[in-house]
Amino acid sequence: MSTHALPNWLVWQPRAFPNANFLAVKGTRPALVDSGFVAHAEHTRKSAESMAGDRIALVVNTHWHSDHVGGNRELQRFGAAIAASVPDAEAVRRRDPGCCAAAYLDQPVAPYSVDIALRDGDLLRLGDSDWQVVRTPGHTSGHLSLWQPEERILAVGDALSDYDVGWVWAALDGPQAAATALQSIERIAALKPRVLLPAHGPVPQDVSATLASAHRRVSRLVDDPSGAVWYGARRVFGFALMIYGGIPLAEIEDYLRARSWAQDAARELGTGADAFISELLSSMRASGAIAEVDGRVCATADHDPPDRRLLNVPWPDKWPPASTAQTQLPVTRSQNEGRHR
Ligand SMILES: [Zn+2]
Repeated sequence: MSTHALPNWLVWQPRAFPNANFLAVKGTRPALVDSGFVAHAEHTRKSAESMAGDRIALVVNTHWHSDHVGGNRELQRFGAAIAASVPDAEAVRRRDPGCCAAAYLDQPVAPYSVDIALRDGDLLRLGDSDWQVVRTPGHTSGHLSLWQPEERILAVGDALSDYDVGWVWAALDGPQAAATALQSIERIAALKPRVLLPAHGPVPQDVSATLASAHRRVSRLVDDPSGAVWYGARRVFGFALMIYGGIPLAEIEDYLRARSWAQDAARELGTGADAFISELLSSMRASGAIAEVDGRVCATADHDPPDRRLLNVPWPDKWPPASTAQTQLPVTRSQNEGRHR
């Protein structure tokens, strides 16, 4: 791990799923890039405060997936402003039911509001350094990266990691999503970063090799739309198994049948829901990505199982209005009662 390559005002720590890695910037405006998963929000805030040596003044979201925005509400309650890309900010402000793809992916997110909408090229003061907003859509339409030109450090969110690339989802972001992701990888490479800071996994040791590998992987998603659907479906399903501590074997098919993402995947693949579900389960069993433990289907990848009681937050269609999101926090959420946990 090459944290020696990072300036001493930057704090980076790896975190297992379902949390994005820690990235804090120390200085007069202590900042955090991405805020982890909702069930670990308090831990995220306290760790961020301790690492930054102060209250966090600003949280920047690379994109709105649940493992990147789950601590937003907690940090906002303690005074942080939230910054996000224009598309994400506008949808969050109008309480679009599709916010964070939370309900769609079955990934809870606590209600938050966005204070600063970020456009490509915007300069943002984090700590005592200026960072440039670089739009890098593909994994989501609103995805952004943060570029620190003096240090040549690029925080890339889920655009790529040391070992893979962000999944793309044509059913939400259109058939060009993979091609858009490829353009973003090319844009990232053109900056010639010295250090890449992905939101998952280690800091890549060899930046050029990592970028070349990411380019190959995203090119495959462009060339093989069905493969891209399978890749995304396996990641989304694996994430659900992590946050729910596995799902009972007896309920797994009903669970999958009820998921919008699984219905869309089956449609994109031109197959029936049952055939899709059967293939998803058998292929993930065969690869060892899932296993049965005490009658539950579980993800085998390293993860930090959340306290499932902390998943009781409303879906975005029930979020309180943006201006009052910090003060009106619902305590009962019937929306979640059908969940398997
Ligand atoms: Zn993501």
